[in-house]
Amino acid sequence: MNISTLFDIKKVVFSLEVFPPKKETSINVIYNTLLKLRGIPCDFISVTYGAGGSETQREKTCEIASLIRTNYHIEPVSHLTCVNSDKGEIRETLAKLKENKIQNILALRGDISPSVLPKKDFLHASDLARFIKEYDSSFNVLGACYPEGHCECSSIEEDIEHLKIKIDSGVTHLITQLFFDNAHFYTYMDKIRKAGINVPIHAGIMPIVNSNQIERMVTMCGASIPNKFSTVLNRYAHKPEALKDAGIFYATEQMMDLLENDVEGIHLYTMNNVEVATRISESIQNIILAKNSMEN
Ligand code: FAD
Repeated sequence: MNISTLFDIKKVVFSLEVFPPKKETSINVIYNTLLKLRGIPCDFISVTYGAGGSETQREKTCEIASLIRTNYHIEPVSHLTCVNSDKGEIRETLAKLKENKIQNILALRGDISPSVLPKKDFLHASDLARFIKEYDSSFNVLGACYPEGHCECSSIEEDIEHLKIKIDSGVTHLITQLFFDNAHFYTYMDKIRKAGINVPIHAGIMPIVNSNQIERMVTMCGASIPNKFSTVLNRYAHKPEALKDAGIFYATEQMMDLLENDVEGIHLYTMNNVEVATRISESIQNIILAKNSMEN
Protein backbone atom coordinates (compact mmCIF):
# COMPACT_ATOMS: atom_id res chain seq x y z
CA MET A 1 0.00 0.00 0.00
CA ASN A 2 1.19 3.48 -0.88
CA ILE A 3 0.93 5.23 2.49
CA SER A 4 0.56 8.69 0.97
CA THR A 5 -3.06 7.71 0.24
CA LEU A 6 -3.72 7.52 4.01
CA PHE A 7 -3.82 11.31 4.13
CA ASP A 8 -6.79 11.33 1.74
CA ILE A 9 -8.88 9.19 4.05
CA LYS A 10 -7.71 10.16 7.56
CA LYS A 11 -7.54 13.45 9.41
CA VAL A 12 -4.59 12.22 11.47
CA VAL A 13 -2.11 9.52 10.52
CA PHE A 14 -0.27 7.91 13.44
CA SER A 15 2.98 5.99 13.01
CA LEU A 16 5.78 4.42 15.03
CA GLU A 17 9.51 4.15 14.38
CA VAL A 18 11.77 1.29 15.46
CA PHE A 19 15.46 0.57 14.90
CA PRO A 20 17.21 -2.74 14.19
CA PRO A 21 19.04 -4.15 17.22
CA LYS A 22 22.72 -3.27 17.56
CA LYS A 23 25.35 -5.60 16.06
CA GLU A 24 26.01 -7.50 19.27
CA THR A 25 22.30 -7.94 20.10
CA SER A 26 20.23 -10.86 18.86
CA ILE A 27 17.62 -10.07 16.20
CA ASN A 28 15.11 -11.87 18.48
CA VAL A 29 15.09 -8.77 20.67
CA ILE A 30 13.33 -6.78 17.96
CA TYR A 31 10.90 -9.64 17.29
CA ASN A 32 9.80 -9.46 20.94
CA THR A 33 9.56 -5.67 20.76
CA LEU A 34 7.40 -5.83 17.63
CA LEU A 35 5.19 -8.49 19.15
CA LYS A 36 4.39 -6.14 22.01
CA LEU A 37 4.13 -3.01 19.82
CA ARG A 38 1.52 -4.86 17.75
CA GLY A 39 -1.04 -3.89 20.42
CA ILE A 40 -0.73 -0.20 19.49
CA PRO A 41 -3.11 0.85 16.69
CA CYS A 42 -0.98 2.63 14.10
CA ASP A 43 -1.02 3.34 10.36
CA PHE A 44 2.56 2.35 9.62
CA ILE A 45 5.83 1.44 11.28
CA SER A 46 9.12 2.75 9.93
CA VAL A 47 12.45 0.98 10.39
CA THR A 48 15.70 2.97 10.52
CA TYR A 49 18.78 2.20 8.44
CA GLY A 50 22.33 2.33 9.78
CA ALA A 51 24.19 4.68 7.42
CA GLY A 52 27.60 3.49 8.50
CA GLY A 53 26.61 -0.08 9.42
CA SER A 54 27.89 -3.28 7.83
CA GLU A 55 26.10 -4.98 4.91
CA THR A 56 24.44 -7.56 7.20
CA GLN A 57 23.49 -4.87 9.69
CA ARG A 58 21.83 -2.89 6.89
CA GLU A 59 20.01 -5.96 5.58
CA LYS A 60 18.21 -6.14 8.93
CA THR A 61 16.13 -3.07 7.97
CA CYS A 62 14.58 -4.93 5.03
CA GLU A 63 14.17 -8.12 7.09
CA ILE A 64 12.36 -6.30 9.92
CA ALA A 65 10.20 -4.26 7.51
CA SER A 66 9.22 -7.47 5.77
CA LEU A 67 8.30 -9.12 9.07
CA ILE A 68 6.11 -6.13 10.00
CA ARG A 69 4.23 -6.55 6.72
CA THR A 70 3.84 -10.30 6.62
CA ASN A 71 3.43 -11.23 10.31
CA TYR A 72 1.71 -8.16 11.72
CA HIS A 73 -0.08 -6.90 8.59
CA ILE A 74 1.04 -3.34 9.27
CA GLU A 75 2.46 -1.27 6.44
CA PRO A 76 6.22 -0.83 6.86
CA VAL A 77 8.39 2.07 5.73
CA SER A 78 12.01 1.20 5.12
CA HIS A 79 14.52 4.00 5.74
CA LEU A 80 17.37 4.11 3.22
CA THR A 81 20.47 6.31 3.32
CA CYS A 82 22.77 7.01 0.37
CA VAL A 83 25.84 8.84 1.65
CA ASN A 84 27.97 5.71 1.84
CA SER A 85 26.52 3.82 -1.12
CA ASP A 86 27.03 3.83 -4.87
CA LYS A 87 24.30 3.32 -7.47
CA GLY A 88 24.96 -0.42 -7.72
CA GLU A 89 24.52 -0.93 -3.97
CA ILE A 90 21.32 1.12 -3.91
CA ARG A 91 19.99 -0.88 -6.89
CA GLU A 92 20.62 -4.12 -4.96
CA THR A 93 18.79 -2.79 -1.89
CA LEU A 94 15.85 -1.62 -4.02
CA ALA A 95 15.63 -5.04 -5.64
CA LYS A 96 15.48 -6.66 -2.17
CA LEU A 97 12.81 -4.24 -1.00
CA LYS A 98 10.76 -4.95 -4.10
CA GLU A 99 11.17 -8.70 -3.68
CA ASN A 100 9.83 -8.29 -0.12
CA LYS A 101 6.90 -6.16 -1.36
CA ILE A 102 8.00 -3.09 0.59
CA GLN A 103 6.56 -0.14 -1.27
CA ASN A 104 7.37 2.84 0.97
CA ILE A 105 10.89 4.19 1.40
CA LEU A 106 12.11 7.10 3.53
CA ALA A 107 14.93 8.44 1.32
CA LEU A 108 17.73 9.99 3.36
CA ARG A 109 21.22 11.22 2.76
CA GLY A 110 22.49 10.03 6.16
CA ASP A 111 24.96 11.79 8.42
CA ILE A 112 28.47 12.29 7.11
CA SER A 113 30.90 10.53 9.43
CA PRO A 114 34.34 12.12 9.88
CA SER A 115 35.89 8.62 9.66
CA VAL A 116 34.16 7.40 6.44
CA LEU A 117 34.72 9.15 3.12
CA PRO A 118 31.27 9.65 1.50
CA LYS A 119 30.73 8.02 -1.89
CA LYS A 120 29.99 10.40 -4.76
CA ASP A 121 26.95 8.95 -6.54
CA PHE A 122 24.40 10.64 -4.27
CA LEU A 123 25.14 14.04 -2.74
CA HIS A 124 21.68 14.75 -1.34
CA ALA A 125 18.54 12.85 -0.36
CA SER A 126 16.83 14.36 -3.42
CA ASP A 127 19.32 12.48 -5.67
CA LEU A 128 18.28 9.24 -3.97
CA ALA A 129 14.56 10.08 -4.25
CA ARG A 130 14.92 10.68 -8.01
CA PHE A 131 16.96 7.51 -8.45
CA ILE A 132 14.33 5.40 -6.63
CA LYS A 133 11.49 6.78 -8.76
CA GLU A 134 13.50 6.16 -11.94
CA TYR A 135 14.32 2.63 -10.79
CA ASP A 136 10.65 1.83 -10.17
CA SER A 137 7.95 4.46 -10.11
CA SER A 138 5.68 2.25 -7.97
CA PHE A 139 7.85 2.95 -4.90
CA ASN A 140 6.38 5.69 -2.71
CA VAL A 141 9.16 7.97 -1.47
CA LEU A 142 9.11 9.92 1.79
CA GLY A 143 11.67 12.47 2.98
CA ALA A 144 12.93 14.13 6.16
CA CYS A 145 12.54 17.80 7.12
CA TYR A 146 13.81 19.97 9.96
CA PRO A 147 11.56 22.44 11.86
CA GLU A 148 14.65 24.08 13.40
CA GLY A 149 16.65 23.83 10.15
CA HIS A 150 19.23 21.17 9.25
CA CYS A 151 22.48 21.66 11.17
CA GLU A 152 24.59 22.04 7.99
CA CYS A 153 22.41 24.73 6.48
CA SER A 154 23.01 28.42 7.15
CA SER A 155 19.29 29.32 7.39
CA ILE A 156 15.87 27.67 7.52
CA GLU A 157 14.95 29.57 4.33
CA GLU A 158 17.87 27.98 2.46
CA ASP A 159 16.99 24.56 3.89
CA ILE A 160 13.39 25.03 2.63
CA GLU A 161 14.70 25.89 -0.85
CA HIS A 162 16.55 22.54 -0.80
CA LEU A 163 13.41 20.84 0.47
CA LYS A 164 11.57 22.02 -2.64
CA ILE A 165 14.10 20.10 -4.76
CA LYS A 166 13.33 17.00 -2.65
CA ILE A 167 9.61 17.33 -3.38
CA ASP A 168 10.27 17.93 -7.10
CA SER A 169 12.32 14.70 -7.06
CA GLY A 170 9.26 12.64 -6.16
CA VAL A 171 8.84 12.83 -2.36
CA THR A 172 5.14 12.63 -1.43
CA HIS A 173 5.22 13.10 2.34
CA LEU A 174 7.66 14.46 4.94
CA ILE A 175 8.51 13.35 8.47
CA THR A 176 10.07 15.96 10.74
CA GLN A 177 13.14 15.74 12.90
CA LEU A 178 12.17 15.55 16.57
CA PHE A 179 11.42 18.85 18.31
CA PHE A 180 10.44 19.78 21.85
CA ASP A 181 8.81 23.13 21.24
CA ASN A 182 5.69 23.07 19.09
CA ALA A 183 6.14 26.77 18.32
CA HIS A 184 9.07 25.79 16.05
CA PHE A 185 6.82 23.35 14.20
CA TYR A 186 4.01 25.87 13.67
CA THR A 187 6.39 28.59 12.43
CA TYR A 188 8.02 26.07 10.11
CA MET A 189 4.65 24.92 8.74
CA ASP A 190 3.78 28.53 7.87
CA LYS A 191 7.10 28.96 6.07
CA ILE A 192 6.96 25.76 4.04
CA ARG A 193 3.35 26.31 3.00
CA LYS A 194 4.22 29.88 1.93
CA ALA A 195 7.14 28.41 -0.05
CA GLY A 196 4.61 26.28 -1.98
CA ILE A 197 5.33 22.90 -0.34
CA ASN A 198 1.95 21.27 0.04
CA VAL A 199 2.70 17.61 0.83
CA PRO A 200 1.51 16.15 4.17
CA ILE A 201 3.85 16.76 7.12
CA HIS A 202 4.22 14.19 9.87
CA ALA A 203 5.41 15.64 13.20
CA GLY A 204 8.19 13.52 14.75
CA ILE A 205 7.96 13.29 18.55
CA MET A 206 10.52 11.63 20.78
CA PRO A 207 9.84 11.18 24.48
CA ILE A 208 12.91 11.84 26.63
CA VAL A 209 12.83 9.19 29.32
CA ASN A 210 16.40 8.99 30.59
CA SER A 211 19.21 11.44 31.13
CA ASN A 212 21.56 9.76 28.59
CA GLN A 213 19.17 10.68 25.81
CA ILE A 214 19.16 14.40 26.52
CA GLU A 215 22.63 15.48 25.45
CA ARG A 216 22.72 12.97 22.57
CA MET A 217 19.48 14.25 21.12
CA VAL A 218 20.45 17.87 21.33
CA THR A 219 23.94 17.43 19.87
CA MET A 220 22.97 14.90 17.20
CA CYS A 221 19.68 16.42 16.08
CA GLY A 222 20.13 20.09 16.92
CA ALA A 223 16.74 20.19 18.67
CA SER A 224 16.48 22.92 21.29
CA ILE A 225 14.98 22.20 24.70
CA PRO A 226 12.61 24.88 26.03
CA ASN A 227 13.29 26.18 29.55
CA LYS A 228 10.14 24.69 31.05
CA PHE A 229 11.23 21.21 29.91
CA SER A 230 14.89 21.56 30.90
CA THR A 231 13.80 22.64 34.40
CA VAL A 232 11.82 19.41 34.74
CA LEU A 233 14.66 17.32 33.30
CA ASN A 234 17.16 18.85 35.73
CA ARG A 235 14.83 18.40 38.69
CA TYR A 236 14.46 14.65 38.09
CA ALA A 237 17.89 13.94 36.60
CA HIS A 238 18.73 11.54 39.45
CA LYS A 239 15.26 10.03 39.86
CA PRO A 240 14.88 7.71 36.84
CA GLU A 241 11.23 6.75 37.36
CA ALA A 242 10.16 10.35 37.91
CA LEU A 243 12.16 11.45 34.85
CA LYS A 244 10.44 8.78 32.77
CA ASP A 245 6.98 9.94 33.91
CA ALA A 246 7.89 13.56 33.22
CA GLY A 247 9.18 12.71 29.72
CA ILE A 248 6.05 10.74 28.88
CA PHE A 249 3.85 13.53 30.18
CA TYR A 250 5.73 16.16 28.17
CA ALA A 251 5.57 14.18 24.90
CA THR A 252 1.85 13.47 25.45
CA GLU A 253 1.14 17.17 26.06
CA GLN A 254 3.07 18.05 22.89
CA MET A 255 0.95 15.60 20.91
CA MET A 256 -2.30 16.86 22.45
CA ASP A 257 -1.41 20.39 21.41
CA LEU A 258 -0.51 19.24 17.87
CA LEU A 259 -3.82 17.38 17.59
CA GLU A 260 -5.71 20.46 18.77
CA ASN A 261 -3.93 22.39 16.03
CA ASP A 262 -4.92 19.90 13.33
CA VAL A 263 -1.58 18.24 12.69
CA GLU A 264 -1.79 15.84 9.71
CA GLY A 265 0.35 13.13 11.25
CA ILE A 266 2.29 12.14 14.36
CA HIS A 267 5.36 9.91 14.13
CA LEU A 268 6.43 8.49 17.50
CA TYR A 269 10.13 7.71 17.79
CA THR A 270 9.67 4.70 20.09
CA MET A 271 13.40 4.00 20.66
CA ASN A 272 12.16 0.37 20.84
CA ASN A 273 10.76 1.16 24.30
CA VAL A 274 7.43 -0.68 24.39
CA GLU A 275 6.28 0.58 27.78
CA VAL A 276 6.80 4.23 26.88
CA ALA A 277 5.25 3.88 23.42
CA THR A 278 2.22 2.09 24.88
CA ARG A 279 1.64 4.63 27.65
CA ILE A 280 1.81 7.57 25.23
CA SER A 281 -0.31 5.92 22.56
CA GLU A 282 -3.01 4.96 25.06
CA SER A 283 -3.31 8.60 26.14
CA ILE A 284 -3.96 9.92 22.63
CA GLN A 285 -5.59 6.98 20.85
CA ASN A 286 -9.19 7.97 21.56
CA ILE A 287 -8.55 11.52 20.44
CA ILE A 288 -7.10 10.28 17.14
CA LEU A 289 -10.07 7.93 16.71
CA ALA A 290 -12.53 10.74 17.44
CA LYS A 291 -10.83 13.10 14.98
CA ASN A 292 -10.79 10.45 12.27
CA SER A 293 -14.49 9.76 12.73
CA MET A 294 -15.52 13.43 12.47
CA GLU A 295 -17.14 14.85 9.34
CA ASN A 296 -15.25 17.63 7.55
P1 FAD B 1 19.37 16.13 2.68
O1 FAD B 1 17.94 16.36 2.38
O2 FAD B 1 20.26 15.72 1.59
O3 FAD B 1 19.91 17.41 3.42
C1 FAD B 1 21.20 17.45 4.03
C2 FAD B 1 21.76 18.87 3.95
O4 FAD B 1 22.03 19.19 2.56
C3 FAD B 1 20.79 19.94 4.43
O5 FAD B 1 21.55 20.94 5.08
C4 FAD B 1 20.15 20.48 3.16
O6 FAD B 1 19.72 21.82 3.28
C5 FAD B 1 21.30 20.35 2.16
N1 FAD B 1 20.83 20.10 0.80
C6 FAD B 1 19.84 19.26 0.42
N2 FAD B 1 19.69 19.30 -0.93
C7 FAD B 1 20.60 20.17 -1.41
C8 FAD B 1 20.94 20.64 -2.71
N3 FAD B 1 20.31 20.19 -3.79
N4 FAD B 1 21.96 21.55 -2.82
C9 FAD B 1 22.63 21.99 -1.74
N5 FAD B 1 22.34 21.58 -0.47
C10 FAD B 1 21.35 20.68 -0.31
N6 FAD B 1 19.92 8.73 9.53
C11 FAD B 1 20.31 7.44 9.35
O7 FAD B 1 21.51 7.19 9.21
N7 FAD B 1 19.41 6.40 9.31
C12 FAD B 1 18.08 6.61 9.44
O8 FAD B 1 17.29 5.66 9.40
C13 FAD B 1 17.61 7.96 9.64
N8 FAD B 1 16.29 8.23 9.78
C14 FAD B 1 15.87 9.53 9.88
C15 FAD B 1 14.48 9.80 9.95
C16 FAD B 1 14.02 11.12 10.06
C17 FAD B 1 12.54 11.39 10.10
C18 FAD B 1 14.96 12.20 10.12
C19 FAD B 1 14.48 13.61 10.27
C20 FAD B 1 16.33 11.94 10.07
C21 FAD B 1 16.79 10.62 9.93
N9 FAD B 1 18.17 10.32 9.84
C22 FAD B 1 18.59 9.01 9.67
C23 FAD B 1 19.17 11.40 9.96
C24 FAD B 1 19.54 12.01 8.57
O9 FAD B 1 20.24 11.05 7.81
C25 FAD B 1 20.42 13.24 8.82
O10 FAD B 1 19.66 14.25 9.42
C26 FAD B 1 21.23 13.76 7.64
O11 FAD B 1 22.20 14.68 8.13
C27 FAD B 1 20.44 14.50 6.58
O12 FAD B 1 19.65 13.65 5.87
P2 FAD B 1 18.55 14.24 4.81
O13 FAD B 1 17.95 13.09 4.15
O14 FAD B 1 17.66 15.21 5.47
O15 FAD B 1 19.57 15.00 3.82
